[in-house]
Amino acid sequence: MKCLICGMNININNFNVNNQGLLETNESDHIKYCPFCGVSATYLKPEDETNFKEEIYKVPTESLDENTLIILEHAMKLEIFNSDFYKAAAKLAHSLAVKETFVALSKIEYVHAIVHQKLGGFKQIPTLVDIDYSKHKSDKSLMELAENREIHAARFYEKQGNKINNTIIKEVFHALWSVEREHIQIARNY
Ligand SMILES: [Zn+2]
Repeated sequence: MKCLICGMNININNFNVNNQGLLETNESDHIKYCPFCGVSATYLKPEDETNFKEEIYKVPTESLDENTLIILEHAMKLEIFNSDFYKAAAKLAHSLAVKETFVALSKIEYVHAIVHQKLGGFKQIPTLVDIDYSKHKSDKSLMELAENREIHAARFYEKQGNKINNTIIKEVFHALWSVEREHIQIARNY
């Protein structure tokens, strides 16, 4: 299967790579999400059915207006910011389960950044200033921080998605909005 949002091919060897970052885990005979970007199975298609047009991430950058490009750049930075947070949080977390969840979420958010990078035709993924999260001593405190991050991200996609004219980018923002909402749930379930 192929994910129409991030473009990754999903197979028997990789369907479970980020299971700890999914609200419900993927099983070999029941793949509920893209393991890489976390979008729902609606966006997964058998590889032989896909063609260039259906691959959402391949929007020609020339067709996008300045406003959309600014929003995409902001989205890319937001995802890197959150991916970096999860990477740092994974090092600070005490329980193995929480560590694994943060590692998976860090990878998923990074894929979101790459989706925006491709859509906007940006040359590189930005490097952001390291933030020290060590005052958050408990896993609970880190999860609360994660929840707030995800609430912010979901609001971003909702608000900015309404400002975008391009229907494909709108769809991508809607798909990622759903993913961030599930991440809020993962943090709240802790
Ligand atoms: Zn995907």
